[in-house]
Amino acid sequence: MSGIDNLPPLREVIATHGLAARKSLGQNFLLDLNLTSKIARQAGDLTGADVLEVGPGPGGLTRALLAEGARRVLAVEKDSRCMPALKEIAAVYPGRLEVVEGDALKIDPLTHLAPPIRVVANLPYNVGTELLVRWLTPPAWPPFWDSLTLMFQREVAERIVAQPGGKAYGRLAVLAQWRCDARIVMSLPPGAFSPPPKVSSAVVHLTALPAPRFPADARILQDVVARAFNQRRKMLRAALKGMAPDIEDRLISAGIKPTDRAETVSLERFCALARGFEG
Ligand code: SAM
Repeated sequence: MSGIDNLPPLREVIATHGLAARKSLGQNFLLDLNLTSKIARQAGDLTGADVLEVGPGPGGLTRALLAEGARRVLAVEKDSRCMPALKEIAAVYPGRLEVVEGDALKIDPLTHLAPPIRVVANLPYNVGTELLVRWLTPPAWPPFWDSLTLMFQREVAERIVAQPGGKAYGRLAVLAQWRCDARIVMSLPPGAFSPPPKVSSAVVHLTALPAPRFPADARILQDVVARAFNQRRKMLRAALKGMAPDIEDRLISAGIKPTDRAETVSLERFCALARGFEG
């Protein structure tokens, strides 16, 4: 018995089901259920909410989400070896855990879950950023989720919450902060995981704003920001040259100096620049 439920400790689960971590699947497992409970609590009150968990692995975070009272959890896991362990958890929480074997990039959570939905995950390194960008750039806003509570490599977490003026500030910061409140809520050393990764990790909590912080067309803003940061060392008049022949005037109208570099430009000014391309 493990303290938060009547299931065996995670080391035992891993030994019983032969779940040696695979690097190709970004597997670094959390084995301390006190820690997974702490992460689950960062997502706020889970009672009355459905939760999407990507990559449950042996189920440490899954168990914490259920013990913390999540109404339902949809756990999407690519590694078929984890299925028996996850089914044992489902049996302890009848009707509350649905396990889907598959690629989280290919699953529509709304065919399984009902709002309000929170996303909570210790994401695999290889698809973490891609999933985050998808969750931040749906065709319509607000998105299907109310909040995202996600574990990333520390360096990625810092890029999400970064402010203008430093190397960490880029496309992820603009996309995240345009339509969300984003903050780092926990830091974890490599030793918290088995096997320990090379770098530290951090949990980021993002809350969807009802509407974007500043008006702009999502597709135009994404295009401007992608171009601006793809050549982040160039002055913006050069990096954005391909967007319009009069780019210098457009930059000036948005309150940006044509000789500025992308990493010094605030979210508000990027939105003003994007608005200039509308209609
Ligand atoms: N949640 C567990 C924990 O905290 O101990 C495991 C986290 S581990 C960092 C990432 C998990 O994501 C692994 O179990 C891995 O098999 C799974 N995974 C990797 N790629 C995936 C994908 N495309 N879709 C769903 N799961 C994936």
